Amino acid sequence: MNLRSLDLAELQAFFVEAGEPSYRSTQVFRRIHRHGARKLDEFTELPAELRRRLEGCLPSAEVEDRAVDAGGTEKVIFRAPDEKGSSRFLEAVWIVGDERLTVCVSSQVGCTLDCSFCATGTLPFKGNLASWQIVDQVYALERLRGRRATNVVFMGMGEPFHNYDQVIAAAHLLCHPEGAALGARRITISTAGVTPGVDRFASERQPFRLAISLNHPDPEQRSSIMPHNERYPLQELLVSARRYTTESGRSVTFEYVMMPGINMGTRHLEQLVKIGRSMRCKINLIPLNTDLGGLRRPTTEEATDFQRRLSSAGVLAFNRGSPGRNVEGACGMLALRRLGSASPAGGGAESPALEVF
Ligand code: SAH
Repeated sequence: MNLRSLDLAELQAFFVEAGEPSYRSTQVFRRIHRHGARKLDEFTELPAELRRRLEGCLPSAEVEDRAVDAGGTEKVIFRAPDEKGSSRFLEAVWIVGDERLTVCVSSQVGCTLDCSFCATGTLPFKGNLASWQIVDQVYALERLRGRRATNVVFMGMGEPFHNYDQVIAAAHLLCHPEGAALGARRITISTAGVTPGVDRFASERQPFRLAISLNHPDPEQRSSIMPHNERYPLQELLVSARRYTTESGRSVTFEYVMMPGINMGTRHLEQLVKIGRSMRCKINLIPLNTDLGGLRRPTTEEATDFQRRLSSAGVLAFNRGSPGRNVEGACGMLALRRLGSASPAGGGAESPALEVF
């Protein structure tokens, strides 16, 4: 049981059941989600006796390791227990932009998809994160940095739509008015193209932004870099994406990792333009950040040229660059390499876990 996972109504039920006045729920919810409290002694409005009773009901993730780059973008490795209490590690990134402070959160430990270009796919899959383990990444980073995040993206480790319920619960916790009160449009959920998840997201009219990692515009060739394209074929994914845009009146973002020799040819460009014109969308281009499987990152000229050709064909396309690349925190790089220390992987007696607070 973790009070961090409960929404306001569930907290209310919890306190009523415990024989406490129901206003305790708002007090506790605010402490957790608005103030990012980690220790019970920060819940100053609760009587000491109640705090003692709540002992053990508020576990939080611990920071295991951190690395900050010159621009202030930071990758953090957390230690988060599984249901049996054994340690698992996951990563989140604090991204300093011109006008935004974005937290990129993980939704799973590892990933069951096997995208050929993504480092997370090389890890063993260790399970889903609970909603509290997702929101806690945001609160812990805010504490470490002493600032509020302006945006949250579900683009860290894992496939959010393979952990749909916990991801959506976490997103709702983040925008609760009694909590962090982030605008729903400041939260982006990114899927590799799990079509049933897109359909559910659309039919539930979720208020968050939707991003889809397209990465290849050809229905056949896409499977060579994203094997799940066999199960969720591109054509059906695009039909669902388009339906989402027409039903919600919203735009969808397509992410497109640029990989010379794979998806940047003239034919690919034509196919991508066709997709870009078929629905309300924008395309975020990302230069490849890994060199897995002999794949190559585009040169600056190649990336600029590709973006320009898309734009001149009337498609809204931006080159997102690679913030966090030199702390291995850019897209596709999250794979739990120990950060800049000689201590053994997984931590040992020489590297006690730092507590966030
Ligand atoms: N599973 C989800 C979210 C995690 S990946 C998804 O696929 O959308 C977040 C983004 O990083 C995706 O757009 C993905 O295509 C991109 N990405 C993965 N590996 C990358 C790499 N090596 N270089 C650049 N971007 C990469």
